[in-house]
Amino acid sequence: MVLRGFRYKLAPTADQETLFRQFAGVCRLVYNLALEQRHDWWRQFERTTKSKLNYVAQARELTKLRAEFDWIAAVSQTCQQQALRDLDKAFANFFAGRACYPTPRRKGVNDAFRFQGREVEVRKLNGKWSAVRLPKIGWVKFRDSRPLRGTVKNVTIAMDALGWHVSFACEIDHVAPINICPAVGIDRGVANTLTLSTGEHLSVPASLEAIERRCRSAQHVVGRRKKGSKRRLTAIRRAFRLSAKRARIRRDWQHKTALDMSRRFGTVVLEDLRIKNMTASARGTMEEPGRMVRQKAGLNRSILNQGWFGFETILAYKLEERGGYLLKVDPAYTSQTCSECGAVDSRSRESQAAFVCRHCGFRAHADHNAAINILRRNSASMRMEEGHWLSDEVRTGRGLAPPENPPASAGGRC
Ligand SMILES: [Zn+2]
Repeated sequence: MVLRGFRYKLAPTADQETLFRQFAGVCRLVYNLALEQRHDWWRQFERTTKSKLNYVAQARELTKLRAEFDWIAAVSQTCQQQALRDLDKAFANFFAGRACYPTPRRKGVNDAFRFQGREVEVRKLNGKWSAVRLPKIGWVKFRDSRPLRGTVKNVTIAMDALGWHVSFACEIDHVAPINICPAVGIDRGVANTLTLSTGEHLSVPASLEAIERRCRSAQHVVGRRKKGSKRRLTAIRRAFRLSAKRARIRRDWQHKTALDMSRRFGTVVLEDLRIKNMTASARGTMEEPGRMVRQKAGLNRSILNQGWFGFETILAYKLEERGGYLLKVDPAYTSQTCSECGAVDSRSRESQAAFVCRHCGFRAHADHNAAINILRRNSASMRMEEGHWLSDEVRTGRGLAPPENPPASAGGRC
């Protein structure tokens, strides 16, 4: 059984859009009130009611709130309960050290609400369009761009810079087939986004760089406009639209490339990169200012722009579907090691692109050399088995972190 998300563009009528905004607004309010209650009032609450301030207690409070205000009762109760569940999860993540302290949801940024799967109904209208029936809202048309599969567990309505969308989180019966495709090592870089141990170079589309420049200049324009002015609002909208477009181009490339990889290879080996550490600012402190701050900022932007992390997440579940594996190895010295004789020497890396071994004279593209090393690092513990390379971890299932799928409903969005 696997959980998969299906996202479609909605085509609501003007009245439905007003309802969407109302639903999103009330759910945001419920979330923010509950957050404030947890932040400021929990001591008093626990003293007077003798019960812990958790989801159950807050859902009870919500019922009282609904009885008092008609405009809160006008919005589906499940959506509001889901908002409280999101908050509960946000606090659980915070206390487990996985996330920062929950912050209030903001208008224009967190416009989303969620129903449970059994409350909604989906109907096909024609080849291009389908409709979804939402409680208290009715039938809303959406552009049916791909077939919906499995059992719908929950449905999220959310707005981004390009309009309202619906996301179905579905549970699908799936048994992964036996995968007998070969293994590959992938080196991630800035000049070539991905280099395979087969020698192929793959890069993010050039349009991404162009839109990145436009996006940055749009953000500069926002900074120049007066706060609260109409022109500032227009500039903000433009910047949002551009960054949404940039995200789509990047994700499209990630999906296509990951699909291709998962079809061709059974085991993919990547370096275990700490992207958060790699992209830390070089700014330093007041007493000890950092060096090359601007250059590091530029490199950070390039690293983040490559979308390495998103690619990894997508690749993990696509491989899992086909019975493949994603493995990660220690990245230390992969670019300074000779893939031919194994000698480690920093001088062997002649330039960004060229690798010439100081010991055996082996010449190769630096990224290609690194990709071979990455693949080899994993196969050190591998044995040939029925014509297929499998590492000890894969065969025994030990020491192998299961590839995680992206949560379908993180933060109320898909
Ligand atoms: Zn060598």
